[in-house]
Amino acid sequence: MSVLVQNVSKLYGSQKALDQVNFTIHAGEVVGLLGPNGAGKSTMMKIITCFIPPSEGEVTVDGFSIHDQSVEVRRLVGYLPENNPLHLEMYVKEYLNFVARLYKVAAPSKRVDEMIELTGLSKEQHKKIGQLSKGYRQRVGIAQAMIHDPKVLILDEPTSGLDPNQLLEIRELIRMLGHEKTVMLSTHIMQEVEAICSRAIIINSGRIVADDSTSTLTSRVGGSNLFRIEFNGRPDKLKLSKIRGVLRVVNTDGSNIWEISASEGVDLREDLFRFAVDQQLTILSLNRETASLEKVFQSLTK
Ligand code: ADP
Ligand code: MG
Repeated sequence: MSVLVQNVSKLYGSQKALDQVNFTIHAGEVVGLLGPNGAGKSTMMKIITCFIPPSEGEVTVDGFSIHDQSVEVRRLVGYLPENNPLHLEMYVKEYLNFVARLYKVAAPSKRVDEMIELTGLSKEQHKKIGQLSKGYRQRVGIAQAMIHDPKVLILDEPTSGLDPNQLLEIRELIRMLGHEKTVMLSTHIMQEVEAICSRAIIINSGRIVADDSTSTLTSRVGGSNLFRIEFNGRPDKLKLSKIRGVLRVVNTDGSNIWEISASEGVDLREDLFRFAVDQQLTILSLNRETASLEKVFQSLTK
């Protein structure tokens, strides 16, 4: 089972939304399609799910082509569209039963109950969709996408507009589904990818600008292992730069704040505490910079 995207381009009139896009998603992967607004994420997902055709190129899911085997593709793929357009007047259970019958699911009532259980909708199942909070509406959307037991889940901005608690709950649900399904989710938020995905495909203006494991992407940024420390007095710079693993020591204009870069994987914090004691100084603050994937994203999509 894999999703193969080959030389896909999409024109809306004269505007190129996708430009020669290539990637493969392997079975069991949880991939983040990351890019700023207008990058082409939703367009890519609509093409994989057979909602719109590409202007050029081919997509196959488990060997089936979106061009002439769309019935098979749709059977293999579950889709949560952007902004999750639901029928607000319908009851949760009624809506899921409706979708199950649309997909001609065997034993639809049983399957609906399973999906309600899986997505944590048990308490809300007798409510109208319009009465649910955004987080619970997303659960209905995910239950809908899962109803025909697809192998691949395509989730377009699944956590946008959620409050912080709902966000964590939906991420947890996606992580759990990722154990069984191949998942591609889109987002314009870096942290989302770091939290859920093993791999990130970064897209900008319709082109792929990076495609790698999240850890490799992180290590690609120079100076990613940076410590920022503030002392209550002036330390011996030479001694500071001789701590094992230290590459560079920078002092910001005569202040007592020091930026120390270290070799990859080296955690200087304990050594810095010992150094301060040795120098009879107090540490006022100490931070290790971690938002490095964010930096890759910013530099690639500027
Ligand atoms: P994303 O999901 O990354 O925000 P989209 O795939 O929605 O990006 O859009 C990519 C580009 O294509 C944008 O510039 C957008 O304005 C344009 N676009 C999307 N859908 C249409 C459409 N139906 N007609 C014309 N232009 C569109
Ligand atoms: Mg979009």
